[in-house]
Amino acid sequence: MELSKERIESLRELLAPANRKIVIVAHTNPDGDAVGSSLAWAEVLRGMGHEVTCIVPNKYPYFLDWMPGIGQVVVFKNDTAGDAVRAIAEADLLFCLDFNAVSRLEILSDTIEANTTARRVLIDHHLSPDGHFDLSFSYPDSSSTCFLVYSIIEALFGTDAITRQMAEALYVGIMTDTGNFAYSFLTPELFRAVAVLVEKGISIPEIHNNVYNAYTEGRARLFGYVINRKMEIIQDGTVAYMSLMENEMRRFQFQQGDSEGFVNYALTIKKMKMSAMFLAHRKFIRVSLRSRGDVDVNLFARKYFNGGGHKNAAGGKSFVSMQETIDHYIKSVKEFAQDGHLG
Ligand code: 5GP
Ligand code: MN
Repeated sequence: MELSKERIESLRELLAPANRKIVIVAHTNPDGDAVGSSLAWAEVLRGMGHEVTCIVPNKYPYFLDWMPGIGQVVVFKNDTAGDAVRAIAEADLLFCLDFNAVSRLEILSDTIEANTTARRVLIDHHLSPDGHFDLSFSYPDSSSTCFLVYSIIEALFGTDAITRQMAEALYVGIMTDTGNFAYSFLTPELFRAVAVLVEKGISIPEIHNNVYNAYTEGRARLFGYVINRKMEIIQDGTVAYMSLMENEMRRFQFQQGDSEGFVNYALTIKKMKMSAMFLAHRKFIRVSLRSRGDVDVNLFARKYFNGGGHKNAAGGKSFVSMQETIDHYIKSVKEFAQDGHLG
């Protein structure tokens, strides 16, 4: 991944005036990468003297609660005081982190579309961003937005500018988006970056423990239930899917983020190529897709579930019933296989 020098200089110019009012937004259902990149980038900008508000459309998962500075992130869905709308209306600059189209902000999309004339900067690693940005750092070959933010800080100021707190936030996103250094784009540059983060004094075991060993008992039992009772395998053992209805979630005191990782688990089965999770919400079903190797679930998500993402991790939505969603998935998988996309 080679950052464009021209874009770095454009970014430097955008940030040159003193006391800019800046809003950082990240995607719906913010994950470790969305939150980590927002917190680290906010700290950089505040260090330059700018006024920064971080906004997420809805709540981040509880296993990120420990992250320093997360208490100041405005959750739009719960923002009765109107802090988010005010900050967006007053902003000179809007940074869009870890998503590729304003529609991914869901309940926050309209406010962002209608309520601001701020210049927009995209910092993201998803495929096929939409074109509505004044400056775009779109690098789908970056393992995470956090690695991208690290690289941007390095290019702008050098790594001396990275504090321990930034390092911790950046590591969270790198760790979670690479599945603990198991997925794609594990470049030498990424490990050099991690070495620098370790030099800043972060404790990898502590961060790992904070994020991955902080679930509730209900989540552990729900995991057992889903794998045992709800995982279905089709296509001669190469494709899996699982589903969760709202009553099942209530039974296990479901909290947002509890189903994270379930969809990946099916891929621990040797022959498995592709896996899906269907999670019922009040108004729609959230679809999560994962795949191995050349199987492209970004393509699958775009074609069959109005979604997108990355080659091996994508998502989308379904607006019909759970049974109809599952039937549509099974049919789509067959077509996808016939078209030669399942190898
Ligand atoms: P997850 O399954 O973890 O929610 O999402 C996996 C990946 O797919 C993430 O990179 C996420 O941004 C992307 N993704 C999830 N849902 C959607 C969606 O509805 N639309 C698009 N374009 N991408 C999605
Ligand atoms: Mn990401």
